[in-house]
Amino acid sequence: MKEITILGSTGSIGVNTLDVISNHLDKFNVRALTANTNLDIFVEQCFKYQPEYAVMTDEASASKLEEKLKKKAPDISVLAGIEGLVKVAELDSVDYVMAAIVGAAGLLPTLAAAKSGKRVLLANKEALVMSGKLFMDTIAGSNSELIPIDSEHNAIFQCIADTNNQENASIRSIMLTASGGPFLNTPINELASKTPEQACKHPKWKMGRKISVDSATMMNKGLEIIEASWLFNIDPDSINVVIHPQSIIHSLVEYKDGSVLAQLGNPDMRIPISFGLAWPDRIETKVERLDLFDISQFDFKRPEEDRFPCLRLAREAIKQGGTSSAILNAANEVAVNEFLNNNLKFTDIAIVIDSVMSNVAQNNASTLDVILNDDKLARAQAKEVIRGMKI
Ligand code: NAD
Ligand code: MG
Repeated sequence: MKEITILGSTGSIGVNTLDVISNHLDKFNVRALTANTNLDIFVEQCFKYQPEYAVMTDEASASKLEEKLKKKAPDISVLAGIEGLVKVAELDSVDYVMAAIVGAAGLLPTLAAAKSGKRVLLANKEALVMSGKLFMDTIAGSNSELIPIDSEHNAIFQCIADTNNQENASIRSIMLTASGGPFLNTPINELASKTPEQACKHPKWKMGRKISVDSATMMNKGLEIIEASWLFNIDPDSINVVIHPQSIIHSLVEYKDGSVLAQLGNPDMRIPISFGLAWPDRIETKVERLDLFDISQFDFKRPEEDRFPCLRLAREAIKQGGTSSAILNAANEVAVNEFLNNNLKFTDIAIVIDSVMSNVAQNNASTLDVILNDDKLARAQAKEVIRGMKI
């Protein structure tokens, strides 16, 4: 029996993880669940899975949770705040940690899991984008296992694992596939008036609101280039982005002998999640089987630079190195949040990030303090830039 902590259990990845686990309760036991403010779903999850710990980052929500669990589930310990998240990420009794908090809020607990020798199932790409080398060094120093859950990186992991070759010397390039998001064919001059609802209507994946906007701007793919370069120790110049609107090929690895391996499947996050939980085995899922005759055709397209300026910004951040990726990420989180609150135009997201990157100096990302400090400076700068903008 593997004991599991799910960080961010009320989100899209968290709910899918519980769905996979609920079909394999002989193999996996939920030891801890965490959420931020979504009390109703969280209470239901606690009743259903009876974890030892339930953490709500938001203190007021944690108090309400305690009240609700008192009668029906008095054995569940309720914790609050970031300390609670870190505690359940490093519990001795836990084997696997699903890191599925969105954004920088997930960095500390994800690092804690990495430090304490867990199998880290990494969905929270922002944590790795922010802390890159520090994160990978932490994993290496603790003998933790790191399994990417992001579908593209999970696909690459599967291609590399299948060749029984974890070394990257034989890899010539990586091709990250992208759906192109909801605005792939929108006239560029109409992008400025796009609403949060339109941006969140992803053609192929049902995801949280932040990553949905990232997919619409393609910052998601930019973050994924950074993520892939750290996970697989690959030069970012050898990581290419291919728009593949059907979202069936989840990414490809080109080897120096000319072979190209890909992983295919219906766009359903329960595939990478179940892979990460079961690896090196495989387990049954309820995912619909792939029907190639039904799909009938695969298309591929190069991303247009003027439609997706965030891709260029992400590549610039990698080139600059140090805390640049953390600065890029922080500016993006603030801008996306303001866009979702109708305080910023869709096309201004990239403008804000560009401005923050030019105004906040990057540092050597050698310690967590430096990274968190630059994250803070970038957030303040992004808010400043947005204040000066007209919606
Ligand atoms: P979501 O918004 O649906 O869920 C986020 C979860 O994080 C929720 O449980 C929420 O309670 C928690 N959370 C939010 N803010 C928090 C805070 N300040 N402190 C503590 N907890 C907080 O997001 P999602 O779509 O499930 O994405 C989660 C992560 O997985 C993101 O990093 C995303 O990029 C990545 N990811 C998601 C998908 C997908 O299909 N949804 C695919 C690939 C990668
Ligand atoms: Mg992805």
